Amino acid sequence: MSRPVILCVDDERIILSSLKSQLMNNLGDTYQIELAESGEEALEILDELIKSQVEIPLVIADQIMGGMYGDEVLARIKTILPSIYGIMLTGQATAESVGEAVNKAGLFRYISKPWDEEDLVLTIKTGLRSYYDQKSLLKQECYQSILNQILKLVITAVSFEEQLSQALSIILSARCFTSLTKGSIYTVDLEQADLEWSTRVAPDMVLVSQLNEGEVPESLLEHSETDGVELITETANIRYYRAPIILQRQVVGVLFIYIDIAHDDGPQTREFLSSVGHTLAGMIRISQYNRALEKHSLELEKLVEKRTRELHQALRKQEQLNDIFLEANKKLDYFATTDELTKLMNRRCFFERADGEASRANRYGRKALLAILDVDFFKEVNDKFGHQVGDAVLAKVANVIVETIREHDFIGRIGGEEFGLLMPETSLEDGKELCERVRLAIASTKVMIGSHCISVSASMGISEVKEEESTIGCAMIRADQALYDSKHKGRNLISLN
Ligand code: GH3
Ligand code: MG
Ligand code: MG
Repeated sequence: MSRPVILCVDDERIILSSLKSQLMNNLGDTYQIELAESGEEALEILDELIKSQVEIPLVIADQIMGGMYGDEVLARIKTILPSIYGIMLTGQATAESVGEAVNKAGLFRYISKPWDEEDLVLTIKTGLRSYYDQKSLLKQECYQSILNQILKLVITAVSFEEQLSQALSIILSARCFTSLTKGSIYTVDLEQADLEWSTRVAPDMVLVSQLNEGEVPESLLEHSETDGVELITETANIRYYRAPIILQRQVVGVLFIYIDIAHDDGPQTREFLSSVGHTLAGMIRISQYNRALEKHSLELEKLVEKRTRELHQALRKQEQLNDIFLEANKKLDYFATTDELTKLMNRRCFFERADGEASRANRYGRKALLAILDVDFFKEVNDKFGHQVGDAVLAKVANVIVETIREHDFIGRIGGEEFGLLMPETSLEDGKELCERVRLAIASTKVMIGSHCISVSASMGISEVKEEESTIGCAMIRADQALYDSKHKGRNLISLN
């Protein structure tokens, strides 16, 4: 690694050699002193030095020279190397030319000939200090800008691996690492990042980005410290650093980076690399949160899906139960209101409807007739042919009645072989006529059972439901009396009360 150069330009050799010896006496061998006897030669030397990457913090130039003048030499050097500090050295300069050189060539100081050695050395030392301060400031700005760019990556919507890869590219393309193009970032398998680094480093390393292909550093496997940036190897021009990425006191990754010695300034570089490590750790942390969040919402989705399925199943079951329930209710209703044998209304249902009709007739001043019908000598049918045949005869009688009455009349089985008939809005005359038809229909019906031909008759009692009566209770009693009359008079008859 070459030492930094201080370039001296003067057309008088004696001045050049005096400058060189004074500088060497006072600065030791930290700097290399290069001499040029003209502006043109100075520019040639500068060109070569730049090519071989030598640092040139300072140039001292005489003003009045053959060929190019000092102020012009300094101005041109400044455009080639903006960071350089220029000092003018002359005895003949006017205030004007000094002013011009200060403005045009960005002159740092002016020293008049003949100079005082102490003054010269002080000026040069101040210039060098300013140069290095300035350099360090620029580098700091550059580091800061890199960190900012990496921080911005954390909130960009790309995958974690892509974030790391972009972070590495940003670090490698940094202006303060100009000749640096190599580096790599490794992280442990994030799914298991809570495990011990030292026991897991080798097998579970995930290579996120490795620009220097095929080169997995040996040291990766050897080190397990969790503190600080380390210098791993060093050649004449290059230093190889390792910066741990630490999360909750565990190393979860490493940044390996090659730094050109010309751009390495020790503490500042280490501090920068350590900051990069912290930022990358933050990136890893956020990525871990994101993964956990994704996993959690996936589980939540599954749970919601499962619950929805269960709910649907429960609803379907409920619907089925409802259907069964409705069906059962229908059956219950049927059995509660219907007589099984004749399929007519049973006693309770008939009374309910007949009461309703009586109440309506009472409310609207309408007429209604009630009749009770009883099969004659039915006991004999049972006795002669058996109970089953008796059942069939009863069913047939019911059927005959239903077919004979009008649409708005209704009938119910109110006892064993006894039926009630309600005739709404019917006059006595009409009622009588209807009942007569019913009686005749029954009497003329023949029930064929096997070889037997059975015929029965029925007796009836009729009563009006009176206007002031809102139930059929009283009409029932009167109709019963009339029925009794029919029986008494010889059966197969109709009587009115
Ligand atoms: P009357 O002319 O005086 O009414 O004589 P009857 O024999 O019809 O009267 P009674 O009251 O003495 O007998 C009625 C019979 O009806 C008695 C009973 O066994 C029969 N009976 C009642 N309900 C049923 C039934 O559901 N099926 C059958 N097969 N017989 C019934
Ligand atoms: Mg009877
Ligand atoms: Mg009878």
